[in-house]
Amino acid sequence: MISIGPADRVFVLTGAGISAESGLPTFRASDGLWAGHRVEDVCTPEALELNPALVWQFYSERREQGAKAAPNPAHVALAKLEAELGDRFFLCTQNVDDLHERAGSKRLVHMHGELAKSRCEDDCGELPVEDHTVYKSLDEVGRCKCGARLRPHIVFFGEIPLEMDRIQREIARATLMVVVGTSGSVYPAANFVHWARQAGARTVYIGPEPPLNAHAFTNVVEGKAGEVLPELFELS
Ligand code: NAD
Repeated sequence: MISIGPADRVFVLTGAGISAESGLPTFRASDGLWAGHRVEDVCTPEALELNPALVWQFYSERREQGAKAAPNPAHVALAKLEAELGDRFFLCTQNVDDLHERAGSKRLVHMHGELAKSRCEDDCGELPVEDHTVYKSLDEVGRCKCGARLRPHIVFFGEIPLEMDRIQREIARATLMVVVGTSGSVYPAANFVHWARQAGARTVYIGPEPPLNAHAFTNVVEGKAGEVLPELFELS
């Protein structure tokens, strides 16, 4: 049990592991491949330049798979915790699926982007647009108002994660950091636990195996998110 008192502020970081029980594969589960692909081939600016058809095929498949998945008890437990804590709760997810929103989470940021959005490939300044389309070929992919092709609203490896200022502010004022289902291998997210400890927070990890940065946590709870999270928090 993790106790949460009236003075606590909770920052939650989630990774691919929280969606594993919803049937969405993690990287780790398939030896560093994401759904059978090397990340270099589908998740980098170079891949988008060299083979946009493959990148769009990959993210179209992820859209199709994500739409079929449903939130699991771990997503629901975090939405319930937010309902109890209000603005003393903040959720940062590395996931690009929308299972947290569909479970009811509201105070959240997607630091690595969102599957159900697209944006201008040339970064002309137009905001990302909602886009659930499963494209069958590159010719079908829409255009931005400026004329450039749309790209998935995904932070590729080598690109800067979104909303880092807000994330850093929230970590600095958190008294408890809860990290769920992330291998601790993708930066800067793997550093959040260090920033939280520097700010004096308790830090808890939940997942079936210790992450690479396990030494930085005050507590590691080994288990599946959907089994552990619904019973984990004790509010006073
Ligand atoms: P990762 O694949 O590197 O690690 C997954 C972690 O989840 C592992 O440590 C594993 O032990 C843990 N895990 C497996 N089953 C679990 C369960 N039932 N409960 C709790 N934990 C469980 O994932 P990562 O660290 O999030 O990094 C991968 C990157 O890939 C992220 O940046 C993310 O954007 C992207 N990604 C997203 C999705 C998604 O949106 N659902 C899926 C795959 C990858």
